[in-house]
Amino acid sequence: PGGVRLQKVLAAAGVASRRASEDLIAAGRVTVDGRKVTEQGLRVDPETAVIHVDGLRVSVASGRTYLALNKPPGVLSAMSDPEGRRTLADLLPDREERLFHVGRLDADTEGLILLTNDGELAHRLAHPSYGVRKTYLAEVQGRPARDLSKRLTEGVELEDGPVKADGFRVVGQAADRVMVEVVLHEGRKHVVRRLLAEVGLPVLRLVRTRIGPVVLGDLRPGRYRELGRVEVGRLY
Ligand code: URA
Repeated sequence: PGGVRLQKVLAAAGVASRRASEDLIAAGRVTVDGRKVTEQGLRVDPETAVIHVDGLRVSVASGRTYLALNKPPGVLSAMSDPEGRRTLADLLPDREERLFHVGRLDADTEGLILLTNDGELAHRLAHPSYGVRKTYLAEVQGRPARDLSKRLTEGVELEDGPVKADGFRVVGQAADRVMVEVVLHEGRKHVVRRLLAEVGLPVLRLVRTRIGPVVLGDLRPGRYRELGRVEVGRLY
């Protein structure tokens, strides 16, 4: 479906939380392209819609920063390290604002990590209850059992509780190695490695390729890009 729901756009612009933005809409305080909107769920194009709240133009460029970074292996998911090891901050230019990373990847895991100075979004993305799906590509040793997809999506017991995959597929096979894709909406420590080890597929290499609507794409290791407004809107 095209566009982003209006309450998400308002939240992404920093007007109010998504819930409070729904209240603003219900109260008739929001207009889109000059028309009052009171029903929920209207989809708008955040690049072009002219949105007002209480007659004030909403600027979707909110002064906040949202970056997608391709973390190389060996870099810590931290902004500083007392022992002087390489961190995310070493991959970013010196910036005035303090960015924080949303969640963590293991030092030896690669791929997509988001950085922002938007605390609300960081909170939302970090919590399993919001169900933001993360996709991982894993090179594993061994052969996936035939019914593995079913088993993973039904749930596998780990020592700190069950984990259910939202998706699983084999994307490539070599003699003794297989490339698999796993989709999860939670972020317990080492959860992908532990899950795959539990089903007999120890992980040799792990890359996060997607967080909700944001894809790693062809972003090279160690490089970052700013998220577009549509991406930020969809993250909310
Ligand atoms: N699961 C893991 O095992 N490692 C990560 O870095 C992220 C998810």
